[in-house]
Amino acid sequence: MTVQETLPTSELHLTLQRYLDQRRLLSEVSQRIAASAGLAETLPHVLNGICEATGAVSARAVIGENGGTISFASESGEAKFEAADPAIYSFGQTQQAQVEIVDITVAPSGLDLAGLSGLVSSVLVLPIQAQKTHYGALWIAFKQPHQLTQDERDFVGLLTLQATIAIANARTFEEAKSGREQLAAILASVADAIIMVDKQRKIRVFNPAAEALFQVTAKAALGQPFKSIIKSDTLQKLVYPDEQNDGAETIVEYVASDGRIFAPHVSEVISENGNTDGWLLAVRDVSRFKRLNENMSDFLRTVSHDLRSPLTAAKGYLDMLPMVGEVNDKQEGMMGKIFTSIDDMTNLVEKVLDAGRLDPMMGTYQLRRESIDPTDIVSKVVSTLSNAAQKKQINLRARAASNVPIMYLDEMMIERALQNLVENAIKYTPEGGEVIVETEVKNETLIFSVTDNGLGIAPEDQTRLFERGERVRRKEHKGIRGSGLGLFIVRNVAQQHGGDAAVQSEEGKGSRFEILIPLIDVNLRGGGD
Ligand code: ADP
Repeated sequence: MTVQETLPTSELHLTLQRYLDQRRLLSEVSQRIAASAGLAETLPHVLNGICEATGAVSARAVIGENGGTISFASESGEAKFEAADPAIYSFGQTQQAQVEIVDITVAPSGLDLAGLSGLVSSVLVLPIQAQKTHYGALWIAFKQPHQLTQDERDFVGLLTLQATIAIANARTFEEAKSGREQLAAILASVADAIIMVDKQRKIRVFNPAAEALFQVTAKAALGQPFKSIIKSDTLQKLVYPDEQNDGAETIVEYVASDGRIFAPHVSEVISENGNTDGWLLAVRDVSRFKRLNENMSDFLRTVSHDLRSPLTAAKGYLDMLPMVGEVNDKQEGMMGKIFTSIDDMTNLVEKVLDAGRLDPMMGTYQLRRESIDPTDIVSKVVSTLSNAAQKKQINLRARAASNVPIMYLDEMMIERALQNLVENAIKYTPEGGEVIVETEVKNETLIFSVTDNGLGIAPEDQTRLFERGERVRRKEHKGIRGSGLGLFIVRNVAQQHGGDAAVQSEEGKGSRFEILIPLIDVNLRGGGD
């Protein structure tokens, strides 16, 4: 059945006209939304269209905003209808679909439309919602009782959809804008200089603290290659890791022209799909902490240094005690305990001093190199600690490969480092165990290794072992005293010689610690140090 068969020409003309009007209106509204016109411009237009298409006396949209509501109205939907907005807004929040109230005097419970009596007779409420978010409600009112045709309902539904799109767009835009503004406010208020570069190392973010530190305006820096704006080698090495270093984590400092000391930190900016989008460089002023740390280091140095003399004196007097009178068994036992305590304390004082001297940030220690046979150091350490090993019935042995060359090293420091490793091996190996100290050359590297068959270390505990003050807490370690400084000293001694320290260990089976010293010129003949 065609339209022509069922409708007279005049009615057909009217239907066609309505259809064309509706299309024009829809197309205008869509264009305004596409042009991102503000809600104040788009919504009244939609509401006027609804009035025009349905003969409604008023069309209003009431939307939640910042805890309150904001209303928009058709030209004819002026202030006198406003009183009903709050009730319709809260009613709309609970509705999923259009609600038609043909007679406002019998409005559904929860919807008080008394304020409209005398003004209008029937009302249509349409919730404005998208993806489970209720933005508010659109309501149209008719002077006379009005039963909407299906066509009117559909058209109003379509326009409401357009209004919803406009509102959702505006909200998304507001959120993005406020996100951007928040980020800008954060970047402006942080004391750290923040620079973000993209994959091509072009500057994308340059905050006010960066402007002040590098004396460049953000305007001049944005879009420029990092290298052309930031001239510091230290910072360039961080931002161009694959070009100039192997990405190994090292502690770097950036000293500004005014003498302030900064700690730079670079992190990768990872996109949602896991790709690298760029790098973020944060440069923090650590001058104050550095000064505090220096004071603390000075204090520790002085205290530990001054502690040495009274400890030596105490030990001397303890030695002399049997010479001035007979010592009974009980007293001798107590003297033995005092000896051990003094030794422990002396050991700790030495470690604190070594750790301070060798600290890569604070230490000022200059290696005192001399020509030595590395195997002699091993023999010396093994003989010094043979008593301690014997006390635990530990078999402590030295082994040396035949190709170990004479080297040019700081004998005292290497000895201290090795002694720390062997002391640990004895400490963390149960009675009856075995500790082997070995010297060998592999891959152009001199390796001192200390292998034990003791308690071993769990993989998760191995990562931070060489850091200052790091101790592993395990019930098997109960009663084993330590400072957490030994391995820190070991690694720093190795690093001062251009090498490193390493550990391989298995819980319950034992550990192997290594001091690796490269056979480079400076370690062989001392050239250029
Ligand atoms: P500490 O003074 O506590 O021994 P170190 O820096 O020398 O400090 O060692 C750090 C931690 O490493 C120790 O607390 C211990 O848990 C672990 N450790 C070191 N050497 C060994 C070893 N040979 N066997 C098992 N654990 C070890």
